[in-house]
Amino acid sequence: MKERLYFRDAWIRVFDARVEAVKKEGGETWLRLSQSAFYPEGGGQPGDRGLLYLGENSYPVTDTQSDEDGQVWHRVQAPEGAARLVPGVQVRGELDWARRHDHMQQHTGEHILAWCVWSLHGGYVHGLHIGQVESSIDVSLPGGQTRLSGEQLEGIETLANRVIARDDTIVCRFPDAGEISKLPLRKMPGEHDQTRVVLMGDYEGVACGGTHLGRTGQAGVIKILRDQSARGKLRLFFLCGLRAARHYQACWRALDEASSILSAPHLQVPRAAAAALERINSLSYDLAAFRKGTALARLPGLLERAEELSGGTFLVAESLPEAEAQALDALASALAQEPGVTALLCAPQGDKALFTFARAEGPGRDLAALMRAAGIRGGGKPAFARGTAGDTSPLETAIKLAHEAAGEAPGERHTGGT
Ligand SMILES: [Zn+2]
Repeated sequence: MKERLYFRDAWIRVFDARVEAVKKEGGETWLRLSQSAFYPEGGGQPGDRGLLYLGENSYPVTDTQSDEDGQVWHRVQAPEGAARLVPGVQVRGELDWARRHDHMQQHTGEHILAWCVWSLHGGYVHGLHIGQVESSIDVSLPGGQTRLSGEQLEGIETLANRVIARDDTIVCRFPDAGEISKLPLRKMPGEHDQTRVVLMGDYEGVACGGTHLGRTGQAGVIKILRDQSARGKLRLFFLCGLRAARHYQACWRALDEASSILSAPHLQVPRAAAAALERINSLSYDLAAFRKGTALARLPGLLERAEELSGGTFLVAESLPEAEAQALDALASALAQEPGVTALLCAPQGDKALFTFARAEGPGRDLAALMRAAGIRGGGKPAFARGTAGDTSPLETAIKLAHEAAGEAPGERHTGGT
């Protein structure tokens, strides 16, 4: 096949052709046609999809690729019974137009952005990637710069949308060698490139073999989403045309919902959200202080129930209510200040339980080891350890182990506290 119909007219959606060759690769069927409007993957743009009609039957075209000789191959989902798809038969091709039109908008938008980046910052665009959701370009900036400020990105976006609003003509053609040298091309064709050029208005020209819109206005709108550094270049993520419009719809819906939740005008949502978060943080701080105070108020009662172990040491073991989980460390530390006291505390929190074991610094029982021996995940220092378990039941094991270490059975001796 010599003729790629989109070179002549990128808006051709339906065409007639003759099957020239059929090949099978890895169980898949690929067809070469006498002419085709299907764009083969290249330049960051995915291969076209669509349908091939043969008589009353239609077969999905799921990909289009070109080989090293520049021949275009269409991957066709042809069941075994589709034996009539043989060289010589006439078929009709129809593009998945919504998809191709979207690719044309992203691709043309890339040309517009490339010119804006070049004219505002001297940046040179190397590559385009049209993704299913977002598109991106890589830009070499003067002096090896790899980022632009938010203001600079907005400047590029504004200029790009002005170019769209001007609705300049976009022309694609194959000039001869003599004319090429006279054209004001920003990007000259490479040695192996087809000498096809795309000219935008009277200010932009580059060599390109892709599919383009007929006027800049058909790109609709361009939105730069974000930038990032990528291998010494600036990578810009953007959306064009209907994709950008859909994105605006989704963003507005989300903003509208947030505005309603926060009872704030749309443009005041960030300020209202920040104020709400600040209030939540302040209340959380107050609540934690209150819970700590409540927990510490339990200290005398816990000391009264302390169990005396051998050698003048005491054990305070308690499972606290869930509300006091945040104050666990504070209460354990306060208990550990009392002479000879070892605190084994726990509190349920959600679908797990928190544990804090503490005693005064210095020689004595290794509480991190005790915690692990009781089946609690965690650790720490010999005098202070923290951990978690599925529930509070390991506390009983820890009490038993503490008694065994002291050479007694749990509950053998009780005292009235320290
Ligand atoms: Zn192009």
